[in-house]
Amino acid sequence: MTDKTLQPVLNRLYAADVHDKADIEYALSLKDQAQIAELFAFADEIRRRHVGDGILLRGLVEFSNNCDNTCKYCGLNKTNTNLARYKLTDRQILNCIEQIANAGIGTVVLQSGEQADLDADWLAGIIREIKIRFDIAVTLSVGEKSREDYALWKNAGADRYLLKIETTNRQLYQNLHPQITLDNRLRCSRDLKTLGYQNGSGSIIGLPGQTISDIADDILFFAREQFDMIGIGPFIPHPATALSDCPPGNVELVLKTIAVTRIITKDTHLPATTAIGSVNGNDYRPDALMAGANVLMPNFTPQPWRQLYEIYPGKRCSTEAPGSCGPCIDMMANVIGRTIDLSRGDSLKKKRKECA
Ligand code: SAH
Repeated sequence: MTDKTLQPVLNRLYAADVHDKADIEYALSLKDQAQIAELFAFADEIRRRHVGDGILLRGLVEFSNNCDNTCKYCGLNKTNTNLARYKLTDRQILNCIEQIANAGIGTVVLQSGEQADLDADWLAGIIREIKIRFDIAVTLSVGEKSREDYALWKNAGADRYLLKIETTNRQLYQNLHPQITLDNRLRCSRDLKTLGYQNGSGSIIGLPGQTISDIADDILFFAREQFDMIGIGPFIPHPATALSDCPPGNVELVLKTIAVTRIITKDTHLPATTAIGSVNGNDYRPDALMAGANVLMPNFTPQPWRQLYEIYPGKRCSTEAPGSCGPCIDMMANVIGRTIDLSRGDSLKKKRKECA
């Protein structure tokens, strides 16, 4: 049965060119379980209509946990001196890519902490080597860098870049990231877009002090910037950080944020993030996939290093071997009546523009 107050809001979120923040806040604040189920079902239908039933896979390689930043929520932050630090060798990284390619997966994500002295030429060399040896899309996620570095990596063959805005609330951003600024992150994001990367953003839900109004602003930002992908996950407190005693993000609110983002952005790729698969010791990725998400990111970081990429505790699959995700992911797709899509999964927004 459709709800008479909710349906017009959902229809407006879907159809409007300019979105009313009050509509977004209304959807994010729903308490009634039947209404929440209706929001998720609406988002699921928009997902089906605009990106189809295939769940895209991105093979994740966390190649280094070295980090100069002091992001207050993240276990990799440099004040965590108890964490053993690592960087994979070229050969180890290329072995991971080979495993991803052998699994038939069309995209690799190279992620790391953020190091000022990351050798940009070294990373360009890795990208070139990957592109010579494998027919695979390369996504980078190595933080805030200069336009020159981004250009170098784009020329080397990188296709996409993931740099989550985390929160668009300026004050909250500054409190959580004493060393970096929202303005520089926005500059990076604009550079990536103008350099022709498929551009990824995203947010953390449940950051201490974050409000529904802040999350609505994040969604309006996503809509305005027309990102090709958006990763949304719950805050998970890490014991070695200043936020260790704060509660984790609310799962239902994360799912609502994914649902509203799907309804508004329509064909953006939205991952069921590892964080939503790890919060409170449960795996809510199937729930995310049924509330608008269409991407999964199986982890191919080898052991023992994988366990050291501990951005938050209880990270899903952190003790498993690379490549063991296959059966689990197949089963997840089966249970929710979806299929696995091994293609590159390029931006649908870019494709639409190119065809216009
Ligand atoms: N250095 C890169 C990659 C960071 S790790 C960068 O700055 O982009 C990838 C993502 O993990 C971050 O963007 C952040 O959204 C998420 N993350 C880190 N710590 C977290 C925590 N405690 N809870 C939830 N998500 C977290």
